[in-house]
Amino acid sequence: MNQIFSIAIHGGAGTLIKGQMTPEKEATYKKALQEALDQGYQILENGGCALDAVETAVKSLEDCPLFNAGRGAVFTAKGTHEMDASIMEGKNLKAGAVSLINGIKNPISLARAVMEKTDHVFLAGEGAMQFAVSQGYDVLEDSYFYDDFRYLQWQKIKDSNQFQLDHSDRKDSKFGTVGAVACDQNGNVAAATSTGGMTNKKWGRVGDSPMIGAGNYANNKTCAVSCTGSGEYFIRGVVAYDVSCLMEHKSMTVAEAAEEVIQKRVLALGGDGGLIAVDRHGNVALPFNTEGMYRGFRLSSGETEVSIYEGE
Ligand code: ASP
Repeated sequence: MNQIFSIAIHGGAGTLIKGQMTPEKEATYKKALQEALDQGYQILENGGCALDAVETAVKSLEDCPLFNAGRGAVFTAKGTHEMDASIMEGKNLKAGAVSLINGIKNPISLARAVMEKTDHVFLAGEGAMQFAVSQGYDVLEDSYFYDDFRYLQWQKIKDSNQFQLDHSDRKDSKFGTVGAVACDQNGNVAAATSTGGMTNKKWGRVGDSPMIGAGNYANNKTCAVSCTGSGEYFIRGVVAYDVSCLMEHKSMTVAEAAEEVIQKRVLALGGDGGLIAVDRHGNVALPFNTEGMYRGFRLSSGETEVSIYEGE
């Protein structure tokens, strides 16, 4: 049997309350998702590896200001941008992550450099920036990351103690983290996740996105997973690894495991969000327990979809 290859992406769970979404806005989001999906898929189609596919798809979403990662990252309480990202390869369980970085156009590539060029997994803050500079990364001005919408979001809450997940007027109702998971023609899986975190965050707050096992995980034995949602709950639930464990130890399918974690375990903790997952046979799952999740998938069997709300 030929190996099915596939890719799935997300641009955050939550979404604008349906009435606030205009057809024009919806079309713009879907176009950006489609572009990222196609760029990643093309790599798989040409026989490239899952790791390259997820990095490419996430870079495309990081470069798009509609999503809270790279360009368009949310504002911290100090009016800066602090970004987090992680990447993992299922065939050897290698992983790389960065946190609390600024000025880096594509945090996901820096996470990959940590994986490939150092003996470490996770670099944070000033040290991560020193590493970036040593690798020849440009440190861009804040203006590159600026986005009117995100600035207004921050202005609304900046003098309060509130912090807020992306794009939302209702606290906790929308997240804009981006991620990709893929399975290549050799049955290798990989996962990548990148985020600006939460608007008005302070004290060096770090969410689940750069934490291997919480917001991102990949293992050829089971699956690759990228999460989005209220990061604190995803950390406590060790969500990405939990999906893998349910497959490994309870023989669940990727769809069953992903559903169990998002619809039962995360909800039981009081958390909201979603995830994307792919197994080594190319099957994908994209569950969420919020109003919607920016998402898309494309399988070599021809099945493909880009959607935002439930059933659309
Ligand atoms: N999970 C991310 C965080 O807590 C937020 C998101 O998914 O948008 O930093």
